[in-house]
Amino acid sequence: MQFYNLKEPDEVVSFSQAVKQGLGKNQGLFFPASIPAFDNVDELLSLPLVERSVQILKPFVASCLTEEQLKQIVTKAFNFPAQLQPISENQSILELFHGPTLAFKDFGARFMAQCLQVFSKDQKITILTATSGDTGAAVAHAFHGLDNIDVVILYPKGKISLLQEKMFTTLGGNIKTVAVEGSFDDCQAMVKQAFDDKAFAKQVGLNSANSINISRLLAQICYYFEALAQLSRQKSKLGDVVFSVPSGNFGNLTAGLFAKAMGLPIKRFVAATNANDTVPRYLQTGEWSPNETVATISNAMDVSNPNNWPRVEHMIKSGIVDECVSSVSIDEEQTQTGVIQLNKLGYISEPHAAVAYKALKYSSEEGEHGIFLGTAHPAKFKDVVESILGQPIGLPKELADCAGETILSVDLPADFDQLKTYILA
Ligand SMILES: *Cc1c(COP(=O)(O)O)cnc(C)c1O
Repeated sequence: MQFYNLKEPDEVVSFSQAVKQGLGKNQGLFFPASIPAFDNVDELLSLPLVERSVQILKPFVASCLTEEQLKQIVTKAFNFPAQLQPISENQSILELFHGPTLAFKDFGARFMAQCLQVFSKDQKITILTATSGDTGAAVAHAFHGLDNIDVVILYPKGKISLLQEKMFTTLGGNIKTVAVEGSFDDCQAMVKQAFDDKAFAKQVGLNSANSINISRLLAQICYYFEALAQLSRQKSKLGDVVFSVPSGNFGNLTAGLFAKAMGLPIKRFVAATNANDTVPRYLQTGEWSPNETVATISNAMDVSNPNNWPRVEHMIKSGIVDECVSSVSIDEEQTQTGVIQLNKLGYISEPHAAVAYKALKYSSEEGEHGIFLGTAHPAKFKDVVESILGQPIGLPKELADCAGETILSVDLPADFDQLKTYILA
């Protein structure tokens, strides 16, 4: 299958090229030329995760990877489970945080790293990525120690939790981390500038591993299928399934829409945001007017100019999916209430999932089964969760291991020229 640039549709590339390039000309996002639809979804759902995921991904990657290569990549990338936990009679959480960095981004980042390892033979690659929290850790761990690939991660200084920071700034080796004096959007703007500097991009083999990379999105399709596979084992009848997706850059939602377009029976989606509500306001007023990014306790979603939105909009406007997305903004107080309500139901959660849970509650309809995505382990937001619940929560091994390590980041202002000098040094 080929992939085309949504902004410059004449630019058509293979899967491997789309993965290596990240962004197309004029900062356009790559999009599959067609979306395969399965008429044997029930059969697919009966397969184990890795085998099913190979079948889901095969049509997208077949021109660049053999089925055997794909199977090896998926086996290495998805070496941890996604778990659907019932919360109530008609609500479940899909726990996506059982990977090495305890966040759903492990799925996409590990799949991408394994693909790039195959595609980057004898050719040096520099991954430059901006993170508002979890991308950094997932990317750093996914690429750590891979030959021929250097990783540079930008993050907004002082705006992510100490534990989050420790999860990706302490690895060293081929992983370089930069604390930028600015917001996440400033970091993202510097990444875009780097790609615009063609000579520089070519010189260092620049690649972005954030959620604009199509490989990450494709990987994320797989756990929507896994959710329904588990739900159909837990319930005799699937009914109307609704996903509530805690959204920042809207990559996760994009993957869900792909799953629906491929034939997975999903009725609709709720795109849940925190106070950074560009999308819910846009869906209400038709006006795209991002505000200044505000800091919230669900900080991985502190994004006011979500970079995957053009893909979502394309899928709806071109009829690839029906009008199946509503969007709700959840404020800080409601987020805290969500964490408390979930705790009363016997479930310790964290702010991102709580945003999705509250958004789901507001929009649930009779006869629906709601699944909200648990995008991070509560221990990653230990301080916030402990202060909301007034009770201590334990640290899983992954976090305890890095808590005592030294942060190796350098500080830089939000200035591309200084970043360039640093990378070239
Ligand atoms: C990245 C992230 C999100 C937002 O996902 P997008 O695909 O950017 O919308 C939500 N929750 C957590 C914990 C994250 O790390």
